[in-house]
Parts: sequence; structure tokens; C-alpha cells
Amino acid sequence: MTTTLSNLQKYLVEIAKNDKQGKKINAFLQVRGEEELIREAKIIDEKIKNGKAGKLAGKIIAVKANINVKGLNASCASRTLENYKAPYNATVIKKIKQEDGLIIGMTNMDEFACGASGETSAFGPTKNPQVLELIPGGSSSGSAAAVAAGFCDVALGSDTGGSIRNPASHCGIIGLKPSYSSVSRYGLIDLSMSLDQIGPLARNVEDAALLLSVIQGKDEKDSISQEIKSVNSKSARLDINKLKVGVLDIKISDDRIQNLINDKIEKVVKKYGWKLEKIKLNYIDLAVQTYYPLVYVEFFSGTRKFDGRRYGKRIENSAGVEVLRRILGGSEITKAEFKGRYYYLALKAKKLIEEEFSKAFKKFDAIVMPVYPILPWKIGDVKKMSVQDIYSADALTIPANLAGNCAVSIPAGKVDNVPVGMQIMCDKFQDAKMLQIAGMIEKV
Ligand code: GLN
Repeated sequence: MTTTLSNLQKYLVEIAKNDKQGKKINAFLQVRGEEELIREAKIIDEKIKNGKAGKLAGKIIAVKANINVKGLNASCASRTLENYKAPYNATVIKKIKQEDGLIIGMTNMDEFACGASGETSAFGPTKNPQVLELIPGGSSSGSAAAVAAGFCDVALGSDTGGSIRNPASHCGIIGLKPSYSSVSRYGLIDLSMSLDQIGPLARNVEDAALLLSVIQGKDEKDSISQEIKSVNSKSARLDINKLKVGVLDIKISDDRIQNLINDKIEKVVKKYGWKLEKIKLNYIDLAVQTYYPLVYVEFFSGTRKFDGRRYGKRIENSAGVEVLRRILGGSEITKAEFKGRYYYLALKAKKLIEEEFSKAFKKFDAIVMPVYPILPWKIGDVKKMSVQDIYSADALTIPANLAGNCAVSIPAGKVDNVPVGMQIMCDKFQDAKMLQIAGMIEKV
């Protein structure tokens, strides 16, 4: 019988072998002390024996380093918070502990979640466990790599413009961005608070759904958070014969990715007898230009607390290039804002995109598209790319953040032996339905 303890020990061996030595994946920034972990695992096993354990008993969970776990280093992979020990638990962590999940450590990431490759971490890039010379994607690079490499059962990431789905796609696992406001952000060190969502990464849909069912829900510490139908609720069961799926009509640069997604969804609809139709979405081509001004301004404002007196070092003196670019950009946009030129306009475009999705979801149960328009690049090749190239590759993940709906990346197959994810989106607060659909697609 697998126990929490045997599960933990298996993962500790893997981490020792492949994260720090051997393949040196560099998924973890901090692994908790072995003694303490073993002690906790034994307590959980005791509860299981007595029939008193919570839903997550037995699961070993990794946490992105921008989420506060009391006593652990929430560094955001930045020199700025290098020595910052979280003084409290984020709400998602409190809930995980209540359900007897065992937190194993903190994962590497793009610095302050700014990036899409894991390479902006101040503590070295994470490798893609599937193909070691490639990036794992980002910004939840370490969480995705830890799950894909078999260092834990599930992990938490955060997704502002794709940071859960993108690395899930590159690493061949499940990555879920819940509907905006369905998971408490309390204790998440924000990138852009009007877009951020914490969500699960897992090796199968069932585990992602389980972790989501624990972390979601209203929290008085996050005033916008709200209760939605539980992901496990029976009332959310689908009439699977009547599903109507829209496949986004868009041209991406890599045909092989596009064809893989099209083939996969065609196979799926054939198997289940679903209806498939192409769908065009207006304004979606504005997603990237809409997203970055919002993120710059909100990130600039959010980082004013890192002034070197309250937490860690002064951010302007200690952070990397991408973080500084956003702070500088955000301060410039804020100055120009008396003309309502950028932030205000971006908010208007965000609303248009949101309405466009609402309309589409009146007609379709789900919309599918690729997660990322290109294959993951070689670690280091980011230096050859322009900022614009990097930003524009987020074009397919950003729309769900702007619209606030839920979206999940699930493995669709491989191109050139590299995993490629398919993105499934459902309407706001239809996370349960989306997970059922994902579960069915997973079986094909
Ligand atoms: N790549 C996007 C960015 O750099 C997304 C980041 C995220 O979702 N945290 O902002």
C-alpha cells in the first residue's frame, strides 16, 4: 500500500537524484527539511488509518515561490526577496493543510512571474524534464517541471497571462487557470491583481480537479472572491451527446502545432458525437497589446511596497532586466495617464474581449485552440529574441485572463518529440464543466 510516507520518500529520492544533481532540472528553490516532512507524513498516515484524513491526504504538493507558505522562502525567484520568509499562509495553503496535503517545497519561476520561459529567475533557469535542453515554459516553470519530472503529485502555479497553461503545455501535463475570482488571491504576491489566478498543475485531470475543489471558494480575505459550483458537483454533469465545440479560426506560425490540435479535436468530436464548428473571435488580436499596459501599470503599483524598508531589498536595486522594464514602463504609462491613453484604453479593450467571449459561450460549450503558437526554445535562445517576439507568443493564453473565464491546457501529442498542449476554454464559473470535458478528451 502506498502511504504518504512512502510517496514522500519516493519523491525525495527523485529530487536528490535529478533536481540538484544528475539532470539538474532546478525545479525547486527550496525543499523542506526531511525530518519535518517525514514527521508530517506520519501524522497524515495516522489520520488515514483512523479514517479521519482530508481529501488531499497522501498527496505531495509543490508551491510556486510567489505564494506565501509560513516559514518558507517566498522569494518570487528574485534577489529582492531572496531572504524573505513568509510570515503567514496564503488562503490556498491554509485550505490545502486543512485537507492534509503535504507541502514539499517552493518552486522556481520567472522573477515575480514576469516571463514565459523560466529564464528570468535570478536563481538559474529550470530545464524541461521532457527534453532537457529546452525551456519548460513559464512563469510557473518549476511547478510544471516538478510535476512532469515526478518530484511531486501536484503543484500550485499562478496564471496572469498564461503562466500555468504555457509550462503545462511545454512539459506535457495538465495546467488549469480557474475562472477569475474563484480562487482566493490572499497571500499571492501579485503580478497584476486584476488578472492573477492561482491554479493547479497535475499529471492527470482528476488530480487537477481535486486540488481545485480544495482551493476554490469565497474567502473573506479576498473581497472579490466568490463561491462557484464545486468541481465535483453532480448537478454540473453534462449531457455529453449535445456538446458544441468551437475551434478557434486563427493562423499560428507553426503549422505542425495547428495541425496536431485540429487532428486531436476532430478525433475527439468523432468519438463522442459532438458538434464542431470554426469560430472567429473579434478583438482577440488585440489581446497582447491590451494585456501588457495593464500588467505594467498594476505591477508598477504593486511593487511600490518593495522599497527596501518593509520587505527585502529595494526592487530597483536588486531585480533583473524584465522586472525593471515593467516597473519603468508602468511608471511612464501612469504619468501619461492623465490623457487616458494607455491604461484606460486597455481597460476598454479588455471589456470588449470579455463581451466577445460571453457571446461565443452562448453558442458553444467550449472553445479549443493551441496553448502556445511555437515550440519551446533552447535554454538561452531567449537572448536572440526581441521583447516583442516573447510577448506576442502569449497571444493565445492572455485572452482567458482578460475575459476572466476558465481555461486548461491538456497534452495533445508531440511535435518533433516535444509535448504540445491543447487549450480548452469554458465560460466564467464553468470550471466544473470544463474539467469534465477535459477528462473526456484526456481519454482519447
Ligand atoms: N508571459 C506573461 C508575462 O510575462 C504571463 C505571465 C504570467 O501569467 N504570470 O506577463
